[in-house]
Amino acid sequence: MKPRRKTRTVYVGNIPIGGDNPVVIQSMTSTYTYDIDKTVAEIRKLAKGGCDIVRVATPNKADTAALPSILEQSPVPIVADVHFHFERALEAVEAGVHKIRLNPGNINDRKQVDRVIAACKERSIPIRVGVNEGGIVERKDQSKRSEEMGAIASDRHANLIRIMVQKLEEYLRIFDENDFGDVVISAKSIDPRICIDAYRAISERFDFPLHLGVTHAGPPETGRIRSVSALSALLADGIGDTLRISYASDPIHEVEDAKELLCVLGMRNREEPELIACPTCGRIEIDLIKLVSEVRQKLATIKTPVKVAVMGCVVNGPGEAEGADVAVFAGKGRGIIYVQGEQTRTVSEDQMLDALYEESKAFAERVERGEAQLSSGQVSIVPPDPLPRADGSIPLNVISR
Ligand code: SF4
Repeated sequence: MKPRRKTRTVYVGNIPIGGDNPVVIQSMTSTYTYDIDKTVAEIRKLAKGGCDIVRVATPNKADTAALPSILEQSPVPIVADVHFHFERALEAVEAGVHKIRLNPGNINDRKQVDRVIAACKERSIPIRVGVNEGGIVERKDQSKRSEEMGAIASDRHANLIRIMVQKLEEYLRIFDENDFGDVVISAKSIDPRICIDAYRAISERFDFPLHLGVTHAGPPETGRIRSVSALSALLADGIGDTLRISYASDPIHEVEDAKELLCVLGMRNREEPELIACPTCGRIEIDLIKLVSEVRQKLATIKTPVKVAVMGCVVNGPGEAEGADVAVFAGKGRGIIYVQGEQTRTVSEDQMLDALYEESKAFAERVERGEAQLSSGQVSIVPPDPLPRADGSIPLNVISR
């Protein structure tokens, strides 16, 4: 992991983006913004799930008219997503929104951009300038459009990035001429390889905070890999100050995955239990997949970041579970539970779920009372003795160790 690249700090409401501040998680509502109750309910759900800032679409006047009420009820800062109609940006600013998102591909009339900048400047509202692969090609000037389309057709990767960077530069010149520096920038593509190189290119040219994202990534099942491959490469390079993972799904999954990504990269402290589990193999002698799914659900009620391991056998399990605060190693119909390296009990398969939960909960309560400390990866687990089968024979998985 490279150190975070230095960027200027921009405040979105009370949330700082950039500088040395933690990477901020964003998401976007899927509701019609004018439907205030549904929009507020979704914002609250996202905020409860760990989302720091929520963006709402404002295509119509009814949407910006709903903003004052939404802002009053929202627990997190709100960004107005504006396309095509600069008046929506002015209305959103008037409503007191915390940030505006503009797309240079569809609001590029100089006078209109100047007016939005002036309104934001007066109220110290930042603007995200987001170029997207989908809206980057010139729409009005037909000869320029053909030229850009031709360049993209001849070398999509290089020319798409060149055009994105060039349009971003041109647009940001307007902000510079207005002496407006409260800017966050993004350059999204559906192709992770283009995202990685585009963000690398803009991070070299500008010191504005970067909003990372892979656009139109698809449903979580496929969009997860598409998004995380680009975002993790960039974050490991020290690039990125805020991010949105985009899915064609309930946006809470965007927040869950963004949180998990930042936690596994050590960029955000975990607040809930962490579950690790073996992938199972031909040595497995219990229904581990079912057990893991049930353990995951039960652990959701614990609010301390206890690390829990569910391992199918003692062959590789102890080494792979090292660092777990609570672990179970299964054998034929039974499991041995460890708490911070100490064996606490042996239980039958049907008791494993409850026993593991009880041990995890009890350990979490000891941590909360200050009587125990989370392992932080320091627990060493000595492999348990072979678990005899009901008929007294030693399981094959243990003999083969
Ligand atoms: S812990 Fe055991 S059962 Fe699970 S994958 Fe490893 S060897 Fe297989």
